[in-house]
Amino acid sequence: MTPSRSQELAANLGAVRERIGAATARANRSVDDVQLIVVTKTFPVSDVHLLYELGERNFGENRDQEGAAKFPDLPSDARLHFQGQIQSKKLKSITRWARVIHSLDEPKHAQILADLGTAQDVFIQVSLDSSPGRGGVAPDRLLTFAEDCVSRLRLNLVGLMAVAPLGEEPASAFARLNEIHGKAKSEFPQLRYLSAGMSGDFEAAIEAGATHVRVGSSILGHRAPAI
Ligand SMILES: *Cc1c(COP(=O)(O)O)cnc(C)c1O
Repeated sequence: MTPSRSQELAANLGAVRERIGAATARANRSVDDVQLIVVTKTFPVSDVHLLYELGERNFGENRDQEGAAKFPDLPSDARLHFQGQIQSKKLKSITRWARVIHSLDEPKHAQILADLGTAQDVFIQVSLDSSPGRGGVAPDRLLTFAEDCVSRLRLNLVGLMAVAPLGEEPASAFARLNEIHGKAKSEFPQLRYLSAGMSGDFEAAIEAGATHVRVGSSILGHRAPAI
């Protein structure tokens, strides 16, 4: 008999949770220190419901349109995380459904968030890439940006987020991230969390101190390529 979608998700989720457990053990960390965000982008809200029934409460989306469409159908204790590239004109809508924003990387977006006066938890995305394109604040601009977000704009900063660059060993990129995070956290203790790690590299991220891992395809399966 072919397994149901729920059985398939349960098996994938179990395998990912096991790998998270092994990675935290190797890093001498508690498994409770790592929050799994199941990245449900491009998958139907029916999958989110199945994952909810399996005990998951944190879901990641990259696009405003998709998050806004899924949100009204979900139980009130499901938390949606926005982790995509921010567009100014979408930001107001994003704040209606996303409880957490992982990808703040521009002063003008920080200003819009402050003007909206919303209470999102916000991660600043930092770039680990020498060539821009995948988003993120350059590490040498990070502290100035964080200072402005905290002191002037009063955003609720909670941490840093990063994506490992293409063409670099994730472990070496995340070691750099760990150092950047340590420095940032010593200046701004509220930057306590580190959102890093996807299907291909979440174990390396956990070993480098990630507190939030964003895992999609290892749980939901192969996605159609992004448009
Ligand atoms: C899509 C995406 C993920 C999840 O990627 P998978 O490889 O499917 O686990 C995580 N973070 C960001 C920023 C993404 O865009």
